[in-house]
Amino acid sequence: MFPSDPDVVVIGAGAAGIATARALAARGLSCVVLEAGSRIGGRAHACTTLGAVFDHGATWLHAAEQNALTPHAPDAVNHDRIRERHFWMGDAWATPAELAAFQRADNAYHAAVARAASGPDRAIADVIPHGGPWDATVAHWQGAQIQAMEVEHLSAHDIAANSPDGSNLLPREGVGGVIARLAQGLPIRLDARVESLDWSGPGIIAQGGFGTLRARAAIITVSTGVLAAGGIRFTPSLPATHAQAVHDLPLALLDKFAFRCPDRLGIAPFHSVRCRVTPARPRPLSFVFWPHEADHLFGFAGGTLAWELGGGDALIEHARGELRHIFGNPPLGAALATSWGRDPLFLGSYSQARVGAAGARAALAQPLANGRLMFAGEATHHGMAGMVSGAWAEGERAAQAIQPR
Ligand SMILES: Cc1cc2nc3c(=O)[nH]c(=O)nc-3n(C[C@H](O)[C@H](O)[C@H](O)COP(=O)(O)OP(=O)(O)OC[C@H]3O[C@@H](n4cnc5c(N)ncnc54)[C@H](O)[C@@H]3O)c2cc1C
Repeated sequence: MFPSDPDVVVIGAGAAGIATARALAARGLSCVVLEAGSRIGGRAHACTTLGAVFDHGATWLHAAEQNALTPHAPDAVNHDRIRERHFWMGDAWATPAELAAFQRADNAYHAAVARAASGPDRAIADVIPHGGPWDATVAHWQGAQIQAMEVEHLSAHDIAANSPDGSNLLPREGVGGVIARLAQGLPIRLDARVESLDWSGPGIIAQGGFGTLRARAAIITVSTGVLAAGGIRFTPSLPATHAQAVHDLPLALLDKFAFRCPDRLGIAPFHSVRCRVTPARPRPLSFVFWPHEADHLFGFAGGTLAWELGGGDALIEHARGELRHIFGNPPLGAALATSWGRDPLFLGSYSQARVGAAGARAALAQPLANGRLMFAGEATHHGMAGMVSGAWAEGERAAQAIQPR
C-alpha cells in the first residue's frame, strides 16, 4: 500500500504534511507520510463529540482573500459579517460608546505595531500605548488571546510581518474537516512516530517503532516545540543555524474549551463575547456562541493562564467560573477542553519568534543537504506564520523544491 523506497518521507500529517503529499503527487513524485498520532490533521482537528462540529485547534481561515484553503471551504461563512461583539465590563455589558473607545484603542495598537515594523526589533509591549482606559484590555486581547503569548514576549517585527488583512471564515465542517477531506487517498501511515532521522548518507533513513523507511529526501513538518524538545534525533545533529532557529521559535499556547448549553443566554448565533481586563480579572477568557446554530459555545484561554491551567478539566472549571460570573448560573451541559501544551506531539499551539529573532522563520526554511532535508510548517512561513494557511503554503513550497530523480 505504501511505496517502500519513496522519493520523499514526509514527517507529520498536519496541514503542512498533507499539502506536501498532495503537491508531490501532483508532480508525480512518490512519498510516505509518517504520522505519530492516530489521526490526521495535527493542529487542525475537528470532532463532533458535543453533537456538532468543534475544532480543537484552528478555527478560522484567516485572511480568506489570500488563503489557499478558501476555495476548498465553499460552505464557510464570513464570520466578520455575521458576528456582533459583546464586551463584558465586569458588571454590565459595554455601551456603544465604550465599544467605540475599545475600537479606537485597538486601532492605536495596530498603528503602533505597524510603525515598529521598521527600525530595531522590540517587544510589542515596548511599542504600544499604555495607561489609557482600554490599553490593558487590548494588550491582553491581541497578546494572550490572539497571539497566545503576552505582549512582553512578542516580536514587533514578527507580528507586523504575520498579521495579514482580510476576512475570517468559519467552515461549517470545521477547519479540521476541510483538512481531513483534503487528505483523502494520501499515503499516510498513522501511529508511526519518527524517533530518529539519519541524513548522513546520500539518502534519508527514518526510524521508529514502525521500522525503517528510506527515501531520497525528507520534509519535516512537526512543530518547533517538538523539535526543541528533541522529539526527533538527527544524525548528524542539525547545524547551528537551524538549531538556533528552532530555539528562536518557541510555541505559544492557546487552549480551547466548549460547553453544550440548551439556553441561548440572550446571545445570538455566531456572536462573540470578550471581557474587559479588570484588577479582579486580569486574564479574561473570550467566547464564541452557537456557531452554525449549534447548541454549544466555545472559547479560548491563551498565554500564561493557558500554561498554568494546562487545559483539560482545570480549564473547563475555570471557564465555567467565568461564564457564571457573566451569565449568573447558565445551564451548562457536557464540556470538553484541549491540552495542546501537554500533548507531546505538539507542546503548544503555534510559534512566536523571540524578540530580535524574526529572521528565524527564513533560517529554518533553508534546505539542508542539497535540498534533501527541509523543514516546513506554520513556523517557516513569512506572512501567515502560526496559521493553517501558512502551514499549507509551506508544505507546497517544500514539495516544489524537491528535485526530480
Ligand atoms: C487552539 C488553536 C487555535 C488555532 N486557531 C487557528 C485559526 O483560527 N486559524 C489558523 O489559521 N490557525 C490556527 N491555529 C494554528 C494552526 O492550527 C497551525 O498553525 C497549523 O495547523 C499547523 O500545521 P502544521 O502542519 O505546521 O503542524 P501540525 O499540525 O502540528 O502537524 C505536525 C504533525 O506532526 C506530527 N508529529 C509530531 N511529532 C512527530 C514525530 N516524531 N513523528 C511523526 N509525526 C509527528 C503531529 O502529530 C502532527 O500531526 C490554531 C492552533 C491551535 C492549537
